[in-house]
Amino acid sequence: MLKEKTPEVKTLNFIEEIIEDDLNSGKYKSVVTRFPPEPNGYLHIGHAKSICLNFGLALRYGGKTNLRFDDTNPVKEDVEYVDSIKEDIKWLGFEWAEELYASDYFEQLYEWAVKLVEKGLAYVDDQTQEEIRQTRGTISVAGINSPYRNRSAEENLELFRRMRAGEFADGAKVLRAKIDMSHPNMLFRDPILYRIIHSEHHRTGNQWCIYPMYDYAHGQCDSIENITHSICTLEFDIHRPLYDWFIEKLEIFPSHQYEFARLNLTYTVMSKRKLLELVKNNCVSGWDDPRMPTICGIRRRGYTPESIRMFAEKIGVAKRDNVIDLSLLEWCLREDLNKRANRYLAVLNPLKVVITNYPDGQTENLTAINNPEDENAGTREIPFSKTIYIERDDFMENPPKKYFRLSPDNEVRLRYAYIIKCTGAVKDNNGELTEIHCTYDPASRGGNSPDGRKVQGTIHWVSAQDAVEAEVRLFDRLFTEPFMDNIPEDKDYKDFLNPDSLKKVTAYLEPSVKNLKIMDKVQFERTGYFCMDKDSTGSKPVFNRTATLKDTWAKVNK
Ligand code: ATP
Ligand code: MG
Repeated sequence: MLKEKTPEVKTLNFIEEIIEDDLNSGKYKSVVTRFPPEPNGYLHIGHAKSICLNFGLALRYGGKTNLRFDDTNPVKEDVEYVDSIKEDIKWLGFEWAEELYASDYFEQLYEWAVKLVEKGLAYVDDQTQEEIRQTRGTISVAGINSPYRNRSAEENLELFRRMRAGEFADGAKVLRAKIDMSHPNMLFRDPILYRIIHSEHHRTGNQWCIYPMYDYAHGQCDSIENITHSICTLEFDIHRPLYDWFIEKLEIFPSHQYEFARLNLTYTVMSKRKLLELVKNNCVSGWDDPRMPTICGIRRRGYTPESIRMFAEKIGVAKRDNVIDLSLLEWCLREDLNKRANRYLAVLNPLKVVITNYPDGQTENLTAINNPEDENAGTREIPFSKTIYIERDDFMENPPKKYFRLSPDNEVRLRYAYIIKCTGAVKDNNGELTEIHCTYDPASRGGNSPDGRKVQGTIHWVSAQDAVEAEVRLFDRLFTEPFMDNIPEDKDYKDFLNPDSLKKVTAYLEPSVKNLKIMDKVQFERTGYFCMDKDSTGSKPVFNRTATLKDTWAKVNK
């Protein structure tokens, strides 16, 4: 009798618990979340976590997720980023209900600011931003009231109108909330709501020259869209009371903010400012350099959306900051591709082998299994001939005891082909190995042992005359330091760039790779998962190694 499987019990994360309570109590009828990127850079794997969380919750509870660009700063934003963000979200496999922009609400946000002024809750301040900063006080010392704090509502309305009309220069005035200059939460010390920026906006053009601050805009945008659960990263927890204050004073739909720990990964940086700097300083080849933690970089490297979603699920949703090991991301890729990627033979560091007793000029086709994990994947033919390439590492002149690959007078099995025996090694004048000589056993065709003799090792190979020459890019982590947030004060994060993070080699691949297309993902037997790069040409394909087959880093860490 089959043993009954224990059902898998998925525990709820804290946000799911809140949502289930809210739905059960009837507080909300359905869940509405949003993903609110600022279009000032490309998305990274941290954003992917936020995307999987926001879209995942709506899918799970039958709600919807809006994509809302937080485009309140005209200076740093660009349509290039808007387009890439949309592409990345779609690639991850999610669909937004509506594509919205904070700038769609500029008129409404302005009207609400007027309402605050009318209620005596906001005023125009003529102090410079520097003066405002200096009079804010500190945690232990109260701030100083602005000399403009007691302007009448009429005067404020008129000045605010003139700010909007473009009558003042950048920085000449700001609109501030009138709350409490000695409030223990510094954010309540008359926060700035609007500043003057005479700069063209990527969507509203020159229609506006006053722009709302994040704290004033974000909650109200959530409210306009009836967002029920507004999820953001932990550093915003001190902003939450202010988020609630605006909603309360404006008497609008009560969205609620919840915070979770941002994703940090070992051996990389995640801030858009730093990633932009890496691109600008040519430390990497671009936003989509396969070593970058950007979604486009990870995609080009060969990661699948399935593996990223699996990763987001595995790391869960924490309330406390932590750093996730990069090897977990690789583990997810292996889990996914092991079942889906077809296998190929590819030699990355070639050593020529001449099979002396194989007929000159003969070629035969051998049958190889495309994917042992997927019986529907079928088989293919691989040509075999007198001269082949094997990995340099698969031959040793003076092998240690448990070396089961090729060595003088020893046998090894060539995958899908024959058992060969090493009979000699040829060296150049410098004593460098140039080729080795072997004999093959014709009775071992297909790789079996004719007389049941023991041949321990199996290695991969490629027929020299049929080989496709390719450029293969082998990556290592981008930085040498696992915890990039903890580097010493006097150091720059760029000091820790790994000089060996990219190695390009010329490899020989079995000819059936000619059928592969750019972005196809494969396993090269014994050497890893690879993805065909967009730099490929008809005559020379380029492959990126996404990950090795085993966790080599865990070994290094030990
Ligand atoms: P960065 O600090 O990298 O510049 P950001 O927070 O300024 O990022 P936004 O475009 O404002 O970038 O982020 C959009 C959403 O993604 C926000 O809800 C933000 O909380 C979330 N997010 C950003 N970085 C991470 C991260 N490392 N882990 C999880 N969520 C993140
Ligand atoms: Mg932000």
